[in-house]
Amino acid sequence: PGPLMAGKRGLIMGVANERSIAYGIARVLAGQGAELAFTYQGEAFGRRAVPLAESLGAKIILPCDVMDISSVDQVFERLKEEWGTMDFVVHALAFSDRSELKGRYADTSRENFINSMVISCFSFTEVAKRASDLMPNGGSMLTLTYAGSTRVVPRYNVMGVAKAALEASVRYLAADMGVQNVRVNALSAGPMRTLAGAGISDARVLFNYQKMHSPLGRTPTLDEVGGAALYLLSDLSTAVTGEVHFVDSGYNIISMPEPERIQE
Ligand code: NAD
Repeated sequence: PGPLMAGKRGLIMGVANERSIAYGIARVLAGQGAELAFTYQGEAFGRRAVPLAESLGAKIILPCDVMDISSVDQVFERLKEEWGTMDFVVHALAFSDRSELKGRYADTSRENFINSMVISCFSFTEVAKRASDLMPNGGSMLTLTYAGSTRVVPRYNVMGVAKAALEASVRYLAADMGVQNVRVNALSAGPMRTLAGAGISDARVLFNYQKMHSPLGRTPTLDEVGGAALYLLSDLSTAVTGEVHFVDSGYNIISMPEPERIQE
Protein backbone atom coordinates (compact mmCIF):
# COMPACT_ATOMS: atom_id res chain seq x y z
CA PRO A 1 0.00 0.00 0.00
CA GLY A 2 1.05 3.63 -0.62
CA PRO A 3 1.54 6.28 2.06
CA LEU A 4 -1.42 6.43 4.47
CA MET A 5 -2.29 10.07 3.80
CA ALA A 6 -1.72 10.16 0.02
CA GLY A 7 -4.39 12.31 -1.64
CA LYS A 8 -5.60 13.75 1.68
CA ARG A 9 -5.60 17.47 2.46
CA GLY A 10 -5.98 19.05 5.86
CA LEU A 11 -5.49 21.99 8.18
CA ILE A 12 -3.09 22.10 11.13
CA MET A 13 -3.84 24.74 13.79
CA GLY A 14 -1.47 25.49 16.68
CA VAL A 15 2.14 25.36 15.55
CA ALA A 16 4.16 27.81 17.66
CA ASN A 17 7.58 26.17 17.36
CA GLU A 18 9.32 22.87 16.64
CA ARG A 19 8.23 21.48 20.03
CA SER A 20 4.52 22.11 19.39
CA ILE A 21 2.34 19.01 19.35
CA ALA A 22 0.77 20.38 16.15
CA TYR A 23 4.18 20.35 14.51
CA GLY A 24 4.94 16.81 15.69
CA ILE A 25 1.64 15.64 14.18
CA ALA A 26 2.16 17.63 10.96
CA ARG A 27 5.60 16.12 10.44
CA VAL A 28 4.23 12.57 10.63
CA LEU A 29 1.27 13.38 8.35
CA ALA A 30 3.52 15.05 5.76
CA GLY A 31 5.79 12.01 5.87
CA GLN A 32 2.76 9.92 4.90
CA GLY A 33 1.93 12.09 1.90
CA ALA A 34 -0.65 14.53 3.34
CA GLU A 35 -0.99 18.00 1.81
CA LEU A 36 -1.11 20.50 4.68
CA ALA A 37 -2.32 24.03 5.34
CA PHE A 38 -1.37 25.80 8.57
CA THR A 39 -2.62 28.57 10.82
CA TYR A 40 -0.56 30.40 13.44
CA GLN A 41 -1.84 32.73 16.12
CA GLY A 42 -0.34 36.00 14.91
CA GLU A 43 2.72 37.79 13.62
CA ALA A 44 4.95 37.04 16.62
CA PHE A 45 4.23 33.29 16.29
CA GLY A 46 4.54 33.45 12.50
CA ARG A 47 8.27 34.09 12.60
CA ARG A 48 8.83 30.53 13.83
CA ALA A 49 5.67 28.84 12.53
CA VAL A 50 5.82 29.95 8.88
CA PRO A 51 9.28 28.46 8.12
CA LEU A 52 8.25 25.19 9.82
CA ALA A 53 5.08 25.03 7.71
CA GLU A 54 7.08 25.78 4.56
CA SER A 55 9.55 23.02 5.43
CA LEU A 56 6.62 20.57 5.25
CA GLY A 57 5.65 21.82 1.79
CA ALA A 58 2.64 23.94 2.80
CA LYS A 59 1.40 26.60 0.40
CA ILE A 60 -1.48 27.88 2.52
CA ILE A 61 -0.14 29.42 5.75
CA LEU A 62 -2.44 31.93 7.43
CA PRO A 63 -2.70 33.91 10.66
CA CYS A 64 -5.72 32.99 12.78
CA ASP A 65 -6.54 34.10 16.30
CA VAL A 66 -9.61 32.09 17.34
CA MET A 67 -10.74 34.96 19.61
CA ASP A 68 -11.47 36.78 16.34
CA ILE A 69 -14.12 34.73 14.52
CA SER A 70 -13.62 36.68 11.29
CA SER A 71 -10.05 35.35 11.11
CA VAL A 72 -11.44 31.80 11.42
CA ASP A 73 -13.95 32.52 8.64
CA GLN A 74 -11.18 33.87 6.41
CA VAL A 75 -9.18 30.65 6.80
CA PHE A 76 -12.08 28.48 5.65
CA GLU A 77 -12.93 30.85 2.79
CA ARG A 78 -9.33 30.49 1.57
CA LEU A 79 -9.45 26.70 1.92
CA LYS A 80 -12.69 26.64 -0.03
CA GLU A 81 -11.17 28.75 -2.82
CA GLU A 82 -7.89 26.83 -2.99
CA TRP A 83 -8.98 23.28 -2.24
CA GLY A 84 -12.78 23.16 -2.55
CA THR A 85 -12.90 20.19 -0.19
CA MET A 86 -10.71 18.89 2.61
CA ASP A 87 -10.20 15.65 4.55
CA PHE A 88 -8.99 16.49 8.06
CA VAL A 89 -8.36 19.15 10.72
CA VAL A 90 -6.00 19.17 13.70
CA HIS A 91 -6.94 21.60 16.49
CA ALA A 92 -3.95 21.84 18.86
CA LEU A 93 -4.42 25.10 20.72
CA ALA A 94 -5.38 26.22 24.18
CA PHE A 95 -4.98 29.23 26.45
CA SER A 96 -5.36 30.32 30.03
CA ASP A 97 -3.81 33.29 31.74
CA ARG A 98 -0.68 31.84 33.36
CA SER A 99 -1.41 33.64 36.59
CA GLU A 100 -4.37 31.26 37.08
CA LEU A 101 -2.38 28.09 36.35
CA LYS A 102 -1.09 28.28 39.88
CA GLY A 103 -2.85 28.27 43.22
CA ARG A 104 -6.48 27.12 43.47
CA TYR A 105 -9.15 26.51 40.82
CA ALA A 106 -11.59 28.19 43.21
CA ASP A 107 -9.85 31.52 42.55
CA THR A 108 -10.44 31.51 38.77
CA SER A 109 -11.70 34.87 37.51
CA ARG A 110 -14.79 35.19 35.33
CA GLU A 111 -12.76 36.88 32.61
CA ASN A 112 -10.14 34.14 32.41
CA PHE A 113 -12.81 31.44 32.64
CA ILE A 114 -14.57 32.87 29.60
CA ASN A 115 -11.38 33.39 27.57
CA SER A 116 -10.05 29.92 28.42
CA MET A 117 -13.35 28.31 27.45
CA VAL A 118 -13.70 30.19 24.17
CA ILE A 119 -10.12 29.59 23.06
CA SER A 120 -9.55 26.08 24.43
CA CYS A 121 -13.02 24.59 23.93
CA PHE A 122 -15.53 26.49 21.82
CA SER A 123 -13.02 27.29 19.06
CA PHE A 124 -13.00 23.57 18.23
CA THR A 125 -16.76 23.59 17.71
CA GLU A 126 -16.50 26.68 15.50
CA VAL A 127 -13.70 25.12 13.47
CA ALA A 128 -15.47 21.75 13.21
CA LYS A 129 -18.64 23.36 11.85
CA ARG A 130 -16.75 25.25 9.15
CA ALA A 131 -14.50 22.31 8.26
CA SER A 132 -17.45 19.92 7.96
CA ASP A 133 -18.92 22.18 5.27
CA LEU A 134 -15.82 21.34 3.18
CA MET A 135 -16.09 17.58 3.83
CA PRO A 136 -18.81 16.29 1.48
CA ASN A 137 -16.96 12.98 1.21
CA GLY A 138 -16.43 12.57 4.94
CA GLY A 139 -13.40 13.43 7.02
CA SER A 140 -11.64 13.25 10.35
CA MET A 141 -11.14 15.90 13.01
CA LEU A 142 -8.81 15.80 15.97
CA THR A 143 -8.34 17.97 19.04
CA LEU A 144 -5.76 17.71 21.81
CA THR A 145 -6.76 17.14 25.41
CA TYR A 146 -5.25 16.22 28.77
CA ALA A 147 -6.28 13.93 31.64
CA GLY A 148 -6.79 16.94 33.95
CA SER A 149 -10.30 16.90 32.38
CA THR A 150 -11.58 14.00 34.46
CA ARG A 151 -9.20 13.91 37.43
CA VAL A 152 -7.64 16.71 39.40
CA VAL A 153 -4.11 17.70 38.44
CA PRO A 154 -2.75 20.40 40.76
CA ARG A 155 -2.39 23.83 39.03
CA TYR A 156 -4.17 22.68 35.85
CA ASN A 157 -7.26 24.41 37.26
CA VAL A 158 -9.46 26.14 34.65
CA MET A 159 -7.74 24.22 31.83
CA GLY A 160 -9.07 20.98 33.34
CA VAL A 161 -12.59 22.37 33.25
CA ALA A 162 -12.09 23.57 29.65
CA LYS A 163 -10.72 20.15 28.61
CA ALA A 164 -13.75 18.43 30.20
CA ALA A 165 -16.01 20.64 28.07
CA LEU A 166 -13.81 20.02 25.03
CA GLU A 167 -14.09 16.24 25.45
CA ALA A 168 -17.88 16.53 25.83
CA SER A 169 -17.99 18.60 22.64
CA VAL A 170 -16.04 15.89 20.82
CA ARG A 171 -18.87 13.46 21.64
CA TYR A 172 -21.64 15.87 20.61
CA LEU A 173 -19.85 16.81 17.39
CA ALA A 174 -19.22 13.13 16.60
CA ALA A 175 -22.96 12.49 16.99
CA ASP A 176 -23.88 15.51 14.85
CA MET A 177 -21.46 14.73 12.04
CA GLY A 178 -21.59 10.94 11.83
CA VAL A 179 -24.32 11.05 9.17
CA GLN A 180 -21.92 12.82 6.82
CA ASN A 181 -19.15 10.34 7.63
CA VAL A 182 -17.14 12.94 9.50
CA ARG A 183 -15.34 11.50 12.52
CA VAL A 184 -14.38 13.57 15.57
CA ASN A 185 -11.87 12.41 18.18
CA ALA A 186 -9.58 13.73 20.90
CA LEU A 187 -6.03 12.65 21.60
CA SER A 188 -5.15 12.86 25.30
CA ALA A 189 -1.40 13.33 25.46
CA GLY A 190 0.84 12.79 28.46
CA PRO A 191 2.81 15.84 29.56
CA MET A 192 5.06 17.27 26.82
CA ARG A 193 7.74 19.94 27.07
CA THR A 194 6.07 22.68 25.03
CA LEU A 195 5.43 26.40 25.39
CA ALA A 196 1.87 25.79 26.64
CA GLY A 197 3.08 23.01 28.94
CA ALA A 198 5.59 25.37 30.54
CA GLY A 199 2.75 27.77 31.41
CA ILE A 200 1.57 25.47 34.19
CA SER A 201 3.28 26.07 37.55
CA ASP A 202 5.29 23.11 38.79
CA ALA A 203 5.23 21.65 35.24
CA ARG A 204 8.57 19.96 35.89
CA VAL A 205 7.25 18.11 38.95
CA LEU A 206 4.17 16.99 37.01
CA PHE A 207 6.34 15.82 34.14
CA ASN A 208 8.63 13.79 36.40
CA TYR A 209 5.75 12.38 38.46
CA GLN A 210 3.92 11.04 35.40
CA LYS A 211 7.16 9.70 34.00
CA MET A 212 7.89 7.84 37.23
CA HIS A 213 4.38 6.47 37.70
CA SER A 214 3.41 5.40 34.17
CA PRO A 215 3.73 1.74 33.18
CA LEU A 216 6.22 2.60 30.44
CA GLY A 217 8.24 4.79 32.81
CA ARG A 218 8.55 7.74 30.43
CA THR A 219 6.54 10.48 28.78
CA PRO A 220 5.52 10.26 25.11
CA THR A 221 7.60 11.72 22.31
CA LEU A 222 6.28 14.07 19.63
CA ASP A 223 6.64 11.26 17.08
CA GLU A 224 4.54 8.94 19.25
CA VAL A 225 1.78 11.52 19.51
CA GLY A 226 2.12 12.02 15.74
CA GLY A 227 1.78 8.29 15.13
CA ALA A 228 -1.47 8.06 17.11
CA ALA A 229 -2.78 11.15 15.31
CA LEU A 230 -1.96 9.48 11.99
CA TYR A 231 -4.11 6.50 13.01
CA LEU A 232 -7.03 8.75 14.00
CA LEU A 233 -6.80 10.94 10.87
CA SER A 234 -6.21 8.18 8.31
CA ASP A 235 -8.40 5.39 6.97
CA LEU A 236 -6.92 3.03 9.60
CA SER A 237 -9.59 4.27 12.02
CA THR A 238 -12.70 4.61 9.83
CA ALA A 239 -15.00 3.13 12.51
CA VAL A 240 -13.61 5.25 15.38
CA THR A 241 -15.44 8.40 16.42
CA GLY A 242 -16.23 10.31 19.62
CA GLU A 243 -13.20 8.78 21.37
CA VAL A 244 -10.70 10.23 23.80
CA HIS A 245 -7.56 8.28 22.96
CA PHE A 246 -4.74 8.31 25.54
CA VAL A 247 -1.14 8.61 24.39
CA ASP A 248 0.38 8.86 27.86
CA SER A 249 2.61 5.81 28.39
CA GLY A 250 -0.37 4.26 30.23
CA TYR A 251 -0.34 6.75 33.11
CA ASN A 252 -4.17 7.02 33.17
CA ILE A 253 -4.73 3.37 34.15
CA ILE A 254 -2.69 3.63 37.34
CA SER A 255 -4.35 4.23 40.69
CA MET A 256 -1.38 3.40 42.87
CA PRO A 257 2.20 3.17 41.64
CA GLU A 258 4.36 0.10 42.33
CA PRO A 259 5.30 0.16 46.04
CA GLU A 260 9.01 0.22 45.20
CA ARG A 261 8.46 3.43 43.24
CA ILE A 262 7.07 5.20 46.30
CA GLN A 263 9.51 6.97 48.56
CA GLU A 264 8.39 6.68 52.16
P1 NAD B 1 2.17 25.04 22.12
O1 NAD B 1 2.40 26.21 22.98
O2 NAD B 1 3.24 24.61 21.22
O3 NAD B 1 0.83 25.22 21.29
C1 NAD B 1 -0.28 25.95 21.77
C2 NAD B 1 -0.79 26.77 20.61
O4 NAD B 1 -2.01 27.43 20.95
C3 NAD B 1 0.20 27.83 20.14
O5 NAD B 1 0.52 27.62 18.80
C4 NAD B 1 -0.61 29.12 20.32
O6 NAD B 1 -0.31 30.07 19.34
C5 NAD B 1 -2.02 28.59 20.19
N1 NAD B 1 -3.03 29.54 20.66
C6 NAD B 1 -3.24 30.02 21.93
N2 NAD B 1 -4.22 30.93 21.92
C7 NAD B 1 -4.65 31.03 20.63
C8 NAD B 1 -5.64 31.83 19.98
N3 NAD B 1 -6.37 32.73 20.64
N4 NAD B 1 -5.82 31.67 18.64
C9 NAD B 1 -5.07 30.77 17.96
N5 NAD B 1 -4.12 30.00 18.51
C10 NAD B 1 -3.92 30.14 19.83
O7 NAD B 1 1.79 23.87 23.16
P2 NAD B 1 1.22 22.38 22.94
O8 NAD B 1 1.53 21.69 24.21
O9 NAD B 1 1.69 21.82 21.66
O10 NAD B 1 -0.35 22.62 22.90
C11 NAD B 1 -1.19 22.09 21.88
C12 NAD B 1 -2.43 21.44 22.47
O11 NAD B 1 -2.04 20.26 23.15
C13 NAD B 1 -3.18 22.29 23.49
O12 NAD B 1 -4.57 22.08 23.31
C14 NAD B 1 -2.75 21.70 24.80
O13 NAD B 1 -3.68 21.92 25.84
C15 NAD B 1 -2.69 20.23 24.40
N6 NAD B 1 -1.97 19.36 25.33
C16 NAD B 1 -0.71 19.67 25.74
C17 NAD B 1 -0.03 18.83 26.61
C18 NAD B 1 1.35 19.19 27.12
O14 NAD B 1 1.80 18.59 28.10
N7 NAD B 1 2.06 20.10 26.50
C19 NAD B 1 -0.62 17.63 27.05
C20 NAD B 1 -1.90 17.32 26.59
C21 NAD B 1 -2.56 18.19 25.73
